[in-house]
Amino acid sequence: MVVANNRNGQILINETAIRKNVHQAVERLTPGSKLFAVVKADGYGHGAVQVARAAAAAGATGFCVAVLDEAIQLRKAGLVEQPILVLGLTDETKVDLVVKYDVTVTVADAEWLRAAAQLKQSLRVTGRLKFFLALDSGMGRIGLQRPEEVRAFVATVNELQAQFDWQGLYTHFATADSPDDHYFNFQLHNFRQLLGEIKHLPRYVSVANSAADLWHPVPEANLVRYGIAMYGLNPSGTAIKPPFPLTPALSLTSELVSVRQVEPGRSIGYGATYSVTEPTWIGTIPLGYADGLRRSLQGFLVLVNGKRCPIVGRVCMDQLMVKLPNSVPVHTKVTLIGTDHGHTITLQEMAEHCQTIHYELACGFSNRLPRFYYQTDLND
Ligand SMILES: *Cc1c(COP(=O)(O)O)cnc(C)c1O
Repeated sequence: MVVANNRNGQILINETAIRKNVHQAVERLTPGSKLFAVVKADGYGHGAVQVARAAAAAGATGFCVAVLDEAIQLRKAGLVEQPILVLGLTDETKVDLVVKYDVTVTVADAEWLRAAAQLKQSLRVTGRLKFFLALDSGMGRIGLQRPEEVRAFVATVNELQAQFDWQGLYTHFATADSPDDHYFNFQLHNFRQLLGEIKHLPRYVSVANSAADLWHPVPEANLVRYGIAMYGLNPSGTAIKPPFPLTPALSLTSELVSVRQVEPGRSIGYGATYSVTEPTWIGTIPLGYADGLRRSLQGFLVLVNGKRCPIVGRVCMDQLMVKLPNSVPVHTKVTLIGTDHGHTITLQEMAEHCQTIHYELACGFSNRLPRFYYQTDLND
């Protein structure tokens, strides 16, 4: 989709907030531990390259992404010093690209190593391929689940040492963001059992996403995969308070492109779901679900001059309408996420209204919305 640079509608990213959030987490690391910034899905919609740069400046020593192409994007943007771990599985036929761009892949079984070793040789790829082993302690997604599988994997790595560089291992918790730690403890127990099968541990042992880092210290681990909290969003929504304040980095602003009084008897939007019963000031905003503003936002609020105005009628693909308390000039600023005149609408509130999580909304804002970056005073 084309970037709508000639429309007033944009995502604003506060780089200082990202730096502050990363810095606070880095300060809490135990000696010898590191933090990798998770910038998959274009930095959760915030812009992967800019977020990676801000995170590195605040003490992140590496990055995590979901797919190989996201790693290559960072390398091509000049981020060539730091390790980049691909958290999803990479097809073994891509070994040439993995080595070429010095990317670290996730490996989830010994068969992958064997297949990749063969392809490396037939493609004449020289150099050792870096990888992390995924251990499935109960997420049910990827990784080895049983102690005997881990034992066999270690034997394969030893056999293929000339081809591979075993950098680390990790597991992923399904419920680290929940106040109930029953399943977390079950996974931790499983993880420790799997870990017990490995005599010589690789450099990195990682268990923590943001939630595990904030609420579940695990002494054996020495690498944090820091995602959502870096963007200033509480991984638990509102269920658990973070040990230090997180500063949201993202806001979304636009303007009123039309302001008119609508007479009783008329309706607003597709399906005529909102009927006007008295003369009503209606403002139109040039954003819609094609920008990632969901149809389920009907009834949610936006800020106009610090006043909360409800979204009335269905959200269209490219426009949405709000009810105004009075007439205001065309071009008046609208804040959909962020602070205006001391009032704030958060991504968390928006997610609650849409019955989803802020993660999904943040990475759902489309590329039609340009992203702009700014910095603030560190103490703001
Ligand atoms: C996305 C992801 C993370 C980051 O999770 P947050 O909750 O955003 O901190 C860490 N590890 C893995 C394997 C992931 O897929």
